[in-house]
Amino acid sequence: MPGSSFLRSLLRSPLRTARVIAGPLAAGCAPPAQPLGPTRVDRDPSSLFAPHHVDGRFFNPWGPLPLRFGALLRWGFTPSAYDKQTAPVVPIVANDGAALAGVETSGSVTWVGHATFAVHDEDDVFLTDPHFGPRALVPRRQTPPGLPIEAVPPDAFAVVSHDHYDHLDAWSVERLPETMDWYVPLGLADWFRARGRTRVVELDWWQSARRGRWTITCLPSQHWSRRIGHAANETLWCSWLLQSDQRRYYFAGDTGYFHGFAEYGRRFGPIDVALLPIGAYEPRWFMGYQHMDPAEAHQAFRDLGARHMIGMHWGTFDLTDEPVDLAPRELAEAVRAHGGDPDRVRVLAIGERWRVPEADPVASREAAASTSFVAPASR
Ligand code: ZN
Ligand code: ZN
Repeated sequence: MPGSSFLRSLLRSPLRTARVIAGPLAAGCAPPAQPLGPTRVDRDPSSLFAPHHVDGRFFNPWGPLPLRFGALLRWGFTPSAYDKQTAPVVPIVANDGAALAGVETSGSVTWVGHATFAVHDEDDVFLTDPHFGPRALVPRRQTPPGLPIEAVPPDAFAVVSHDHYDHLDAWSVERLPETMDWYVPLGLADWFRARGRTRVVELDWWQSARRGRWTITCLPSQHWSRRIGHAANETLWCSWLLQSDQRRYYFAGDTGYFHGFAEYGRRFGPIDVALLPIGAYEPRWFMGYQHMDPAEAHQAFRDLGARHMIGMHWGTFDLTDEPVDLAPRELAEAVRAHGGDPDRVRVLAIGERWRVPEADPVASREAAASTSFVAPASR
């Protein structure tokens, strides 16, 4: 990202300058131009259930995004602490996607890249924030998608966390099977319908939908939204819990560290797999509210009480100051520092298919029996 040579590059290369400004805007790193209200943080769990929509805009009731548009410029003119001359190292394994057409005897997770996973659980396949495309509006894909998009079966379904271009990709949506079902936060259904994708279910925070043996629940995340054609925070952002009698997956989408994780652990545990963002976090003064760093993601995993964590949101799009391959090394350091189990906290290679280890059946049954959930009214 930009450094002290920014002004020189502005004079030398208008194209590069345009990318410097447009890249973070496009990928959703930049905050909205409007002030979003006074900064306050309310860590009481009740704030997760508070109204979060006023005058056509959504907000995080426990503490709005504290940054304003000027912060983007400050970021642009601040030298980066990182040298990006060295090519990043992101592991990739070949995967033709043929396994998705079969039946998985338990659950498996394949990393396509960034926030995109293909979860294959028994005879169901679902995708998270499917992005197989060449760009996140401006930032170019650094590594190929881990599966061919054609391998996604016609009866797959998908959850979408928010409208930023590195999570909601028109290129992919238009090429995925028309028969797919989509689960999206409030305000995004029209975007899908405009592309002929009418099998779309729009949910508010704490609302659930049923699909076969799955309960799919939309949950708060600490983020925001904006896209060309959508005003800032005009559409909602969220994380997702996908729960069957056999397994529970939590997909965090894009989020800063917040008190939601502990609440989800209490309400929905035991969660088998937490898919948590670890990348696009520097500089912290600018990214801290909206993106977790690896140590915070590890803390979120512990708050959730999940059995396994897979780190995502790295290695695919160069969005922020740190190199795209730094996050996994920082995550490993966080795990070491807390005496964590590296078998339970991992990243995958792009294209890698990871089988979810079986849980202890007695412990799982007892924990499941103690979990009750009533969706409160919200918004
Ligand atoms: Zn985002
Ligand atoms: Zn993102």
